[in-house]
Amino acid sequence: MTSIELLVIGGVAAGASFAARARRLDETAHITVIERGPDVSFANCGLPYHIGGEIPTRGVLAVQTPQSLKALLNLEVRTQCAAVSVDRAGKRVLVKNLVNGQDEWIGYDKLMLAPGAAPVVPPMPGVDDARIFTLRNLVDMDRIVKATLSGKRAVVIGAGFIGLEMAEQLRHKGVDVHLVELQRQILPQLDHKMTLLLESELRRKGIEVHLGDQVTRFAATKESLQTHLASGAVLDADFVVMSIGVRPETSLARDAGLQLGKRGHIVVNAFMQTSDPDIYAAGDAVETQDRIMDGQTAVPLGGPANRQGRVAADHLFMGDKARPYPGSIGTAIVRAFDVAAGVTGWTEQRLQMAGIAYGAVTVNDYQHATYFPGATPLTLKICWAEDTGRLLGAQASGQDGVDKRLDVLATAIAAKMTVEDLCHLELAYAPPFGSAKDIVNLAGFAATNLRDGLVVKTDVLPEDPAVQLVDVRAQGLAEAFPIAGAINIPIATLRDNLDKLDRKRPVVTLCSFGKMSYFAARVLAQNGFQVSSFAGGIKANLDPRIPPKL
Ligand SMILES: Cc1cc2nc3c(=O)[nH]c(=O)nc-3n(C[C@H](O)[C@H](O)[C@H](O)COP(=O)(O)OP(=O)(O)OC[C@H]3O[C@@H](n4cnc5c(N)ncnc54)[C@H](O)[C@@H]3O)c2cc1C
Repeated sequence: MTSIELLVIGGVAAGASFAARARRLDETAHITVIERGPDVSFANCGLPYHIGGEIPTRGVLAVQTPQSLKALLNLEVRTQCAAVSVDRAGKRVLVKNLVNGQDEWIGYDKLMLAPGAAPVVPPMPGVDDARIFTLRNLVDMDRIVKATLSGKRAVVIGAGFIGLEMAEQLRHKGVDVHLVELQRQILPQLDHKMTLLLESELRRKGIEVHLGDQVTRFAATKESLQTHLASGAVLDADFVVMSIGVRPETSLARDAGLQLGKRGHIVVNAFMQTSDPDIYAAGDAVETQDRIMDGQTAVPLGGPANRQGRVAADHLFMGDKARPYPGSIGTAIVRAFDVAAGVTGWTEQRLQMAGIAYGAVTVNDYQHATYFPGATPLTLKICWAEDTGRLLGAQASGQDGVDKRLDVLATAIAAKMTVEDLCHLELAYAPPFGSAKDIVNLAGFAATNLRDGLVVKTDVLPEDPAVQLVDVRAQGLAEAFPIAGAINIPIATLRDNLDKLDRKRPVVTLCSFGKMSYFAARVLAQNGFQVSSFAGGIKANLDPRIPPKL
């Protein structure tokens, strides 16, 4: 019996995962991996942390070598070789050896395309300067490490996940960092308010954040590389890191006539087969089913890439018995210094733009029992389908416990749970770890209170003088950080002071975290007032160490 010929293009996350699983399912397969770069199966997610020195040893990122993959998995790995075209009729791929320039056709029975996505570098004057870097692989990482040896001023362009990691790590290394973002917020993947804590943390650590501004050109001077912004600002630096997003590397697939989606990703079925059943594709280059809504999505993240590679190998050897890829949710997290923020599923902004009827609520609490030392505030926002209450997305930010809540909620989304289900999730609790009513439960309570009509929320403080703004915080706090236009009636005294309020005029209650104002709204509603509660409280998403600005 002749063994099956498997050819894999791209030897990092999706490609390596496919090849490894294929070997575990078939000892006889002949598996060749073609990788354009000098390294294979490296830990690209760790690259920023070696630049900043938090991962001191470079070697731990180069997880495997061609030799180790030969020994462990009997793979033929050819690095510094690029696939340049696919002859589908002849079932072969033209491969160029980038060291000696030689071309060679390699045949396949089944082909896996896992070429990933390349950093976007928009054309603009000066962009070819050798001091402007992108970060995708170990070679890029080494260049940036070298730049930090002499350069102590950097501009990071793009405040998405990688941009934030780079800004943090460069600062960690003592570099002065300007962070430039086109949108009027950092981390445009999250709703604006959910990014404010992280933004204040960046500023607190000395990063100059430029929002709603964009680079127009670069100019080299004798002393520095200048980044010119649309606002007129000119940022002097020793080097620039560009991290404004990625574009799927699909020219090979396009030239081979494979079906591509609207944004240029490779279209695959649930078993990762392209429009040619002998060619699979996985990772950043593909679009898949959205696991939450009807339609397609492209999620350029490590988890989906690795799992998709595995699905393709399963299908190859198990056929329809393989478990299909259920689609991507989009779960991502980032840390900048002492603060983390992340998202799973759809944000309010995205639901609004898609015209989907939704509900949303933000709750503030602590990551564990407040009486246990080390309690720190945590903010959680959830979005759900208005008609069914099914959870559509969640975002979290805080100093600790963000990952745990995102993971719980990502699981809840995958299980198609509703906000009602969140109320009774039985989560691990002891004082060092959580609270008897975890913030995930609280989010469920807040959502069901809204859905049951027990409370009406408002996301903006009223400017209409006809509205009575009632600050229910303790007197000392209200005096220290007064809210313009509000009268202070501490929650504990509210029932005795109802006569201070005009029953004919609407009331908005507010407090620090949103909980007391909800309690107050219940008192007032049951006493005949038309009342809404200021959602999330005035401290929502602001660094608790600085006085609230509202
Ligand atoms: C700096 C950085 C940090 C990240 N951090 C995170 C994180 O914290 N969490 C997370 O979930 N994700 C993270 N990601 C994203 C994650 O790494 C990617 O989603 C994942 O690696 C995609 O896997 P892939 O196999 O599709 O592509 P890649 O891992 O990019 O691998 C594709 C490979 O194919 C090769 N290739 C392309 N074309 C050809 C060709 N024609 N011939 C031969 N070889 C070719 C490329 O050289 C490349 O090495 C990060 C990415 C980067 C760059």
